[in-house]
Amino acid sequence: MTESVEEALCTQLKAHINTYHLKTFLIGFHGGEPMLFGLKRFRRFMNKLSEIAIQTNCRIRYSIMTNGILITEEWINFFKEFQIGVGISLDGPRKFNDANRIDFKGNGTYDRITEKIRLLQTNGIEPGIISVFSTALNGMEIIDFFVEQVGVKQFDVLIPDATYRDTVQPIAVFYKDLFDDWYDSHANSGVTIRIISSMVKGLLGGQSNSITLGLGAITTVTISTDGSIEGLDVMRVLGKGAVTSSLNIQTDPIQAVQGNDLWSKIRSASLNVNARCKKCEFLNACGGGPIVSRWSAENEFDNASIYCDDLKEIFGHVWKRLKEDIYV
Ligand code: SF4
Repeated sequence: MTESVEEALCTQLKAHINTYHLKTFLIGFHGGEPMLFGLKRFRRFMNKLSEIAIQTNCRIRYSIMTNGILITEEWINFFKEFQIGVGISLDGPRKFNDANRIDFKGNGTYDRITEKIRLLQTNGIEPGIISVFSTALNGMEIIDFFVEQVGVKQFDVLIPDATYRDTVQPIAVFYKDLFDDWYDSHANSGVTIRIISSMVKGLLGGQSNSITLGLGAITTVTISTDGSIEGLDVMRVLGKGAVTSSLNIQTDPIQAVQGNDLWSKIRSASLNVNARCKKCEFLNACGGGPIVSRWSAENEFDNASIYCDDLKEIFGHVWKRLKEDIYV
């Protein structure tokens, strides 16, 4: 990110918060690898954002998603100073992680990532770990891995990004096992699996805490390092240019994203689900499924999720288990 983009972003952010009288704002630093920004630049940027928070009386919350490899004690102090929530990408045991996540030299990253997780923990930061569903591990194995072997208590297992163009793997058995093992053996010991929390909250009538599942407007805006103002970056799975935007933070306000076709379609689809979903007993918990999984070339976002049958099976199972323990 050039200094002029950074400056423009701060100017537009302050104007946006003031214009809409916002009391909270969430900024997530994602990559690539956001720590490549460098500690010095990052600190200067954070100082500017902190100044904006004070001037606008808005509580700006921060999170960073990193592979963790560059984490040092200096970085940890920085995360603590600015209260930046830390998320680490780790897919599972060494063999599996290193098949997917390698460094520029082609070497596996497992040992370095787990070492940095321990460094965070010994310095008082409990990171959230993000992994992606795979057929390589079952639900019980993944909980055992994260809790017993890595020693973390918060993690997520994302549903793979896929559209109607893709052939998807069945996910129902995995997530049913994941729920059962968590519910029977780990729920009372402080272990939190974000996707399971979303399901349980949604089924009990609450609001999901993720943009993956559950009802709620998706209004996420992505500002790329070149200043482009785009919609949800997950839609990059549609291919090169799928999220390309003519808007740029150096010339346009953040709210101009409303004129971005993809952003508008995603927001609209998040509020107006497909006809099949409207009749679904699990609508509050599912919300129509991950937004990307609803997309097809024919109907764009006007579909139930490509994972719909599996999602129904998972929600049916979780609800059956919960119902057994709910006394009114
Ligand atoms: S389970 Fe299927 S029909 Fe029900 S809300 Fe989810 S995607 Fe829609």
